[in-house]
Amino acid sequence: TKINIAIDGYSSTGKSTVARRLAKELGYLYVDTGAMYRAVALFALRNNLLDEEGELDGPALVDALPQISLRFVPSDKPGVFEIALNGESVEQHIRNLEVSSIVSPVAAIGEVRELLVRQQQQMGVEKGVVMDGRDIGTVVFPDAELKIFMTASAEKRTRRRLEELQGKGQEVTYEEVYNNIVERDRIDSSRAVGPLRKAEDALAYDNDNLTLEEQYQLIYQEVLR
Ligand code: C5P
Repeated sequence: TKINIAIDGYSSTGKSTVARRLAKELGYLYVDTGAMYRAVALFALRNNLLDEEGELDGPALVDALPQISLRFVPSDKPGVFEIALNGESVEQHIRNLEVSSIVSPVAAIGEVRELLVRQQQQMGVEKGVVMDGRDIGTVVFPDAELKIFMTASAEKRTRRRLEELQGKGQEVTYEEVYNNIVERDRIDSSRAVGPLRKAEDALAYDNDNLTLEEQYQLIYQEVLR
C-alpha cells in the first residue's frame, strides 16, 4: 500500500529527523520541502534580486522563476537525496543564516508556492512519501493518510538549530538564531497563501515534553495503525 505522510510544524522542531527516519523504515521517499524554498532563496541571493534596502525584490523573483529548475538528486549517502538548483547540488549552501533570513519572504510569494506545491504533489503520485514542511497537510496533500504537526518552545528550537549550525563551523550567536526562528515563524504563519498552521486532522506533538526518540516511537505507532 502507498500512503502519504505529512509532517508540518514550526522551524527546527525536529521534523526532518523524524521524517527521514520514518521514510527509511518504510522504504518511502523523503522530501524536504524546506530545501526547495531555500534553493529558490539562494537563487535570489546569487542573482542579487534585492532592492536598495537589501530586501527581497519579489516581482524580480517572479519574473525569474522560469529560469529556476529544482530537482532532488542522489547524494553520497545511499538512498539520501539532496536538492539541486539548475543542476548544481546546493545542499551545502542553503543551511545558513543568510538564506534563512530571506527564505520566508520568498516562501510568502504566491507564484513561488504554486510552482513548488505542484512539483511536490507530483512526487507523491507514484510511491509513498514522507514530506515535511509547513503546508503539507493543509495544501500539498490534504488527503494524506497521516498528518503530524510539531511544536516546541522557541528556546528549545534555537538551541537545536544553533548546535546544528555551529556543528557546521558557522559562526552564529544564540540571539541571531533565536531572532531568525521567531521572525520566520511570524512570516510563515501570517502569509496569505499556504500559511503555517495545523491541519484539523493532524496529530499534534509538543517536543518540549518528549525526547526525539519518544516522539518517533509515538508517530511510528500511528503509522502501524
Ligand atoms: O523547513 P525549513 O526550516 O528548512 O524551511 C525554510 C523555510 O521555507 C520556512 O521558514 C518557510 O518560510 C519555507 N517553507 C514553506 N513551506 C514549506 C516548507 C518550507 O513556506 N512547505
